[in-house]
Parts: sequence; structure tokens; C-alpha cells
Amino acid sequence: LAGREIKPDDTVINVKGIEIGGRSAVVIAGPCAVESREQLLEAAVAVKKAGASIIRGGAFKPRTSPYSFQGLEEEGLEILKEAGNLTGLPVITEVIDERSAKMACDYADILQVGARNMQNFQLLKLIGQTGKPVMLKRGISATINEWLMAAEYIMAQGNYKIILCERGIRTFETATRNTLDISAIPVVKGLSHLPIMVDPSHASGDWRLVSPLARAGLACGAHGVMVEVHPNPKQALCDGQQSLSIENFKQTMKDLSMFIQ
Ligand code: PEP
Ligand code: MN
Repeated sequence: LAGREIKPDDTVINVKGIEIGGRSAVVIAGPCAVESREQLLEAAVAVKKAGASIIRGGAFKPRTSPYSFQGLEEEGLEILKEAGNLTGLPVITEVIDERSAKMACDYADILQVGARNMQNFQLLKLIGQTGKPVMLKRGISATINEWLMAAEYIMAQGNYKIILCERGIRTFETATRNTLDISAIPVVKGLSHLPIMVDPSHASGDWRLVSPLARAGLACGAHGVMVEVHPNPKQALCDGQQSLSIENFKQTMKDLSMFIQ
């Protein structure tokens, strides 16, 4: 179902009037995690003002260490929904299991499946049944074929509203957090009609690399980017080193302007 041979024309997903998969690049921005009402609302208002079209924020955080901040859960979802109402923009949030997926359906416009859950097939089936738009991030060590088969799991349940997201893969290189697989964008666009975005924040792990990698992704035909933005990156509870400050996000939006109509 995800294949171009089944559907030759590009899929365009409309979320509250924002078109994902069309000619204009879509920018999703916001903090890695919802940390507090003040933090998220400040970020949401600022990224909207700078031109973002969707707000991100994690309420369920799949962290490498069990001792790291795990997210505000339902309280975080309530704050996200408030940010959506305040700005009029759609909101996206990660779900990690059945409980969080069912809960997020009541608060978010787009569900996110993170790299660590790309092959959580039970979760993919459940999301397929919700019919909600979903961003499916590429697994840390997943091949393009495995990634498209994960999308197929969602589609097999009748949900065709899938946005793919290349977020870097694990390689031998240690200078960056992951290696942005730029080739994946034209390869996936050849194989599939689904929209594809790029996450230069998780791909690089370094805010200074976010703008160049975002431009590279869009130059290769990605339909948009997802970037982490924090009002005070040094104080962030999660992924501060790769988060753009509001000032840096404004500059990044200028850098990307040729891709946004
Ligand atoms: C995220 O986008 O917050 C995230 C955890 O990313 P990934 O699943 O790509 O690591
Ligand atoms: Mn993050």
C-alpha cells in the first residue's frame, strides 16, 4: 500500500489546513519534551511567530537511561493541547505504547512513533486502527525496506495518513549523534508516495548542524523538517545540546525560506 506502483501520485496529508507532502516545506518545531506550561507555551508562541506550522513536544519520553526525565504524561498532553488552542496550530506528540496512544488521540493532531518503536508491531497496528495522522520515524538501525514495511503495518489497518521521518541512523561515525541518511530521501520518494520529512536535530545532536542538515534535506526533496527549539536550551531537561534557541530558530527559518511558499 505504501508503494508508488500502487499509487503513483504523492500523498498529501491535510492536518487542520496544513498540507504535508505538497510543494511547500512544512516546519515542525518545539521542545524535545514538555517540561512545564510556561516552557511549552513560550516555545509555541515563539515558533509560530517565526513561521513554524506545527508544534511538537514529548509527553512520554523513551529515554536511554531510566533515571532521565520520562515526561509529564497526561499533564504534558493537556499543556500541548492548550498550546494548540492558543496558536491555532496542529500539535504532534510521541506515543510509546497502547496507553499513551489511546490517551494522545484525545489531545494531539498527529501521533509520533519514535525510532525506538518503529518495529513495535502491536503499537503500529493499534495506531492503524485509530485513523489518526502519524509520523513514523526511521529506526536507529532500520533499512529503508524495514521502515516502509513498518508503514505498511499501519496502512494494512486502514490508516493511510503516514508521514515518514528520516532522523539519522547509527553508523561508525561518532562526530555526530547519528548520521543523517540524506540518500534515503530520494530513495524513499522513488519507492513510496508517502510524505517524508527530516529531523536534523536528532540526526546531528548539535544545534549548530541543524540548519545545514535541514537545508540539505529540503534540497533533496523532503517535504519538511522537524526541529527542536527550547526557550532556554542550557536548562533543557532533554536534548538541550541539539535544541535551537528562539533566536537560532528565527535564523534557521530565514535559511530555509527558499523552500517555504
Ligand atoms: C523525538 O523526536 O523526540 C525523538 C525521541 O526522536 P527519535 O525517536 O527519532 O529518537
Ligand atoms: Mn529529542
